Amino acid sequence: MKKIVIIGGGAAGMMAAITAAREDKKADIHILEHKELVGKKILSTGNGRCNYTNEKMGIDFYYSENLEVVRQVLGQFGTEDTLKFFRELGIFSKSKNGYYYPRSEQAAVVRELFALHLESLGVHVHAGLHVSSIKREGAGFRISVLEAGQTKKTAQIKADKVILCAGGKAASVLGSDGSGYDLAKGLGHTIVPVVPALVQLRVKAHPLKKASGVRTDAAVHIYENRKLMGSDTGELQITDYGISGIPVFQVSRHAAKGLYYKRPVRAEIDFLPELQKDVVTSMLRFWKKRHRQRQIPELLLGAFNKKLVPCLLKYAGIPMHLKLGELNEDTIERLTCTCKNFSMNIEAANGFENAQVCAGGVRLKEINPATMESLRCENLYLAGELLDADGICGGYNLQWAWATGYLAGLHAVTD
Ligand SMILES: Cc1cc2nc3c(=O)[nH]c(=O)nc-3n(C[C@H](O)[C@H](O)[C@H](O)COP(=O)(O)OP(=O)(O)OC[C@H]3O[C@@H](n4cnc5c(N)ncnc54)[C@H](O)[C@@H]3O)c2cc1C
Repeated sequence: MKKIVIIGGGAAGMMAAITAAREDKKADIHILEHKELVGKKILSTGNGRCNYTNEKMGIDFYYSENLEVVRQVLGQFGTEDTLKFFRELGIFSKSKNGYYYPRSEQAAVVRELFALHLESLGVHVHAGLHVSSIKREGAGFRISVLEAGQTKKTAQIKADKVILCAGGKAASVLGSDGSGYDLAKGLGHTIVPVVPALVQLRVKAHPLKKASGVRTDAAVHIYENRKLMGSDTGELQITDYGISGIPVFQVSRHAAKGLYYKRPVRAEIDFLPELQKDVVTSMLRFWKKRHRQRQIPELLLGAFNKKLVPCLLKYAGIPMHLKLGELNEDTIERLTCTCKNFSMNIEAANGFENAQVCAGGVRLKEINPATMESLRCENLYLAGELLDADGICGGYNLQWAWATGYLAGLHAVTD
C-alpha cells in the first residue's frame, strides 16, 4: 500500500489529502501538522468569512517569476472546480461582486467540513507534530518529527511519497513559520526571495500622521526609483505609522520587493482619483474667482476629511488662513499636485506577522505544472503558498492552494 505523507495541514494539505483519499481508497495517507488542529489559518481568512475563490480567474491576478506555470495550474483546476469541490463538501456558496464565500459567511464551517471529510475518508491526521527534516531513503523518504514545542526528535516516519505544503511565513501565529522553505531547500530546491505581501506599509517621516484613523477613497501608486510598479484604487486607511487598506495591500508586494533589493520606494497617493488633474486645476481657478474671501480649508472640507486638510496644506506649503483670492498660479499648481500626487517615502512593509501572504518561494521552474511533482526530487510534490506565486486580495491565494493541492494529491496517489 502506497504511503503518502503530507506536511502541513493547511488549505493545500487538506485539499491534497481529500483528493488522494477519494482517488485511491486503499492509500495510506497521513497529514503531519504542527498546530493543534488542521486548517487553523482558514479561520482567519476573509475576516472570518473565508473568501475562497473568485469568479474572475487567471494570471492577471497573480505574480510569480514563472506565470506560465500558474496559468497551467489554474487551467487544470479553476473557479468552477473549486465551487464544485465545495458543493461536494456540503458548502453552499455566496458571491459578492464575484468574490465567493460560504453561504453561512463562516470560515469555521469551511475548516470543520474539511476536517470532517478527512476523518470520514480515513486520512490519518497527526496534529502537534513538527517536521524538522526530510531525508531521501531509496525512492522514498524518512521524515523526522518533534512534538510541537519540543527540541528532541520524537519519531522517524517513512513515506513513499511526500507532499510538502507547509505554507510561507506570513502570520506565523497561524502555523506557517517558514520551516517549509528549509525543508524544500534540503531536497534540492531554490527559493525566490520571500517578502511579505498583502500588508500595510510604513512611511518615513509620515506626513499624514495627524490624519491617522482617516479612511478615504484614493488611488495608490508604488514607484521603485521612478518606475511605476503597481496601482490600485479603493478605501485608503491612514494609520499612525503609515498606510493600510485594500489598495495598499494590493500593491504592497511591489514595495516589499523593492525594499528587499534596497531600492528607494515611494507611494504616490491620488486623493481625487475620479478627477483628472486639469479638472482639479480648473476647479481651483473657478473657486478662486467665485469665493475670493473664503479661506482655503473651507473649500477643501467639501472634499476631504477634516483631519486630512491641515496635512494636505502643510504638504503643499500653503498657510491655513490663506484666502482663495490670494491663490496664484504657483499655489494652485502645488495644491493640485498635493491632491493628485501626494508622495511619501516607504521605509518598510509591516512585517510577515501582519502580512496575509508571502511573495516569492520555491521556484516554479523546478516543478512539473501538470502534476506538482518536483523536478529536483522524484516522489516529492509541492503545493500552496510555499511556492513562488502570490495572488491579489479576492480569493486568489486560497484558489492557488486548492488548485496546487488538488493536483499534488491526485498525482501523488495515481502516478
Ligand atoms: C489573516 C489572513 C486572511 C486571509 N484571507 C484570505 C482570503 O480571504 N482569501 C484568500 O484567498 N486567501 C486569504 N489568505 C491567504 C491564505 O490563507 C493562504 O494563502 C493559504 O492559507 C495558504 O495555504 P497553504 O496550505 O499553502 O498554507 P497554510 O494555510 O499556511 O498551511 C500550512 C500548514 O503547514 C503547517 N506547517 C508549517 N510548517 C510545518 C512543519 N515544519 N511541520 C508541520 N506542520 C507545518 C502550518 O501549521 C499550517 O497549518 C489570508 C491569510 C491571512 C493570514
